[in-house]
Amino acid sequence: MAKLNLNRVPMPRQDPKKRAKNFDEVALGYSLKQAKEEASRCIQCPKRNCVAGCPVDVDIPEFIKAIGEGDMPEAVRVLKNKNSLPGICGRVCPQETQCEATCSLAKKDAPIAIGRLERFVADWERANAGAARPVDPPKPKGKRVAVVGSGPAGLTAAADLAKLGHSVTLFEALHVAGGVLMYGIPEFRLPKEIVQAEVDYVVSLGVKLELDAVVGKLATVDELLNDGYQAVFLGTGAGAPMFMNIPGENLNGIYSANEFLTRVNLMKAYRFPEYDTPVKLGKRVVVIGGGNVAMDSARCALRLGADKVYIVYRRSEKEMPARREEVENAMEEGIEFKLLTNPKQMLGDEKNWVVGIECYEMKLGEPDDSGRRRPIVKEGSEFTIDVDMVVEALGTRPNPLVSSTTEGLETTRWGTLVADEETGKTVKDRVWAGGDIVTGAATVISAMGAGKRAAADIDRFLRR
Ligand SMILES: Cc1cc2nc3c(=O)[nH]c(=O)nc-3n(C[C@H](O)[C@H](O)[C@H](O)COP(=O)(O)OP(=O)(O)OC[C@H]3O[C@@H](n4cnc5c(N)ncnc54)[C@H](O)[C@@H]3O)c2cc1C
Repeated sequence: MAKLNLNRVPMPRQDPKKRAKNFDEVALGYSLKQAKEEASRCIQCPKRNCVAGCPVDVDIPEFIKAIGEGDMPEAVRVLKNKNSLPGICGRVCPQETQCEATCSLAKKDAPIAIGRLERFVADWERANAGAARPVDPPKPKGKRVAVVGSGPAGLTAAADLAKLGHSVTLFEALHVAGGVLMYGIPEFRLPKEIVQAEVDYVVSLGVKLELDAVVGKLATVDELLNDGYQAVFLGTGAGAPMFMNIPGENLNGIYSANEFLTRVNLMKAYRFPEYDTPVKLGKRVVVIGGGNVAMDSARCALRLGADKVYIVYRRSEKEMPARREEVENAMEEGIEFKLLTNPKQMLGDEKNWVVGIECYEMKLGEPDDSGRRRPIVKEGSEFTIDVDMVVEALGTRPNPLVSSTTEGLETTRWGTLVADEETGKTVKDRVWAGGDIVTGAATVISAMGAGKRAAADIDRFLRR
């Protein structure tokens, strides 16, 4: 048997000092030579554990084999057969806890860099437009499906249903499609032209995209069902921010991460004055939270010119929900982490602008419902951080518009929709749901998996 190669090919990245001052992509992608070298490490094991770790069931060994053989059109065909958004997944999916975690070489601490290879294939296809093998168009089945929300859940459901021959209309409240991929995740992690190219691909499958279309206002779900749509998929996400409800939270200079990131990414405030979107340029910024949203907010504030950016997080580094790679990137760029720290109140000046955060030091107790150790206040430990801007990245909930305007849906106490885990079927006839609207804020790939499973179930229902 050939000797195992345990040396992952590193991903070239922009230098931390340079990238902390620009919004260009941090990770630069593999060259063909690097991709082939990484692909050649795959031992094509018969167990195919990596496929079991992929929520959208990509035939990972096959597309890696095609890269190794230099057959890029075949790699594209295999990858896009199951995943309509590979350029996005290759950049932001937490492969380290999914396909790469189940790779046979993970036991040796050297899993194949599946995400990087996925990204390489998607980028190759974009650079070689038209070179991929065309897929035969499906036979139209004469059924109409409405998909609500164009984030990864909605895009995946729409693409899969179109591939199965159904006539799909995708309704999106905003003026661009993509959901969090467009308005939340910053350009330096996920360039918007990549998202747009993958949205365009979904549209090229025959999906009709209706922008500026707020379901619940423009038409209700029941009106869609009465208007010739045989089924509706709800993928409206969890876009409503949560707050701490502490004194001083309404001072000027305090943003929710949603508002801050939407201004910066969707409304392109980082390209002011070319784009006329105001955003505060803090010099001393605190971002509260420990997830991807907090890392993105902190790194945006740094790139907008802050001298000092802190992450304030109430647990320790080990419990941080953000991707490891993004925590490391943030640290390398000079973001300072104030761990085991929790805000008590925000302090303002006479004009109601935030000037400080009074915080407690915390310690960890027994695990709570989330399985993570519960943070406990150290009494008498208060201290103040001087700031001129704060971003709160404390999690999100679904906007209640769709559930409150639709008869017969069941919601949980967190405002998420109740739907079958395997099929996405809600308790309402002809209505399915998936992604953050069901799970609460989660991941791109889990939303895509839910969109895929629901599309399969909707297809079964329509073929009855
Ligand atoms: C800043 C940030 C960084 C993140 N980083 C990562 C990461 O690195 N890796 C990862 O895996 N996950 C990450 N996530 C989480 C991930 O983006 C989400 O879990 C995922 O986007 C959820 O997909 P979705 O399709 O369910 O919803 P969304 O992406 O939220 O899309 C929902 C769409 O529905 C639209 N909509 C809402 N209501 C209506 C309505 N009534 N009518 C019509 N349209 C409507 C919205 O405008 C939106 O476009 C991040 C999230 C954020 C906010």
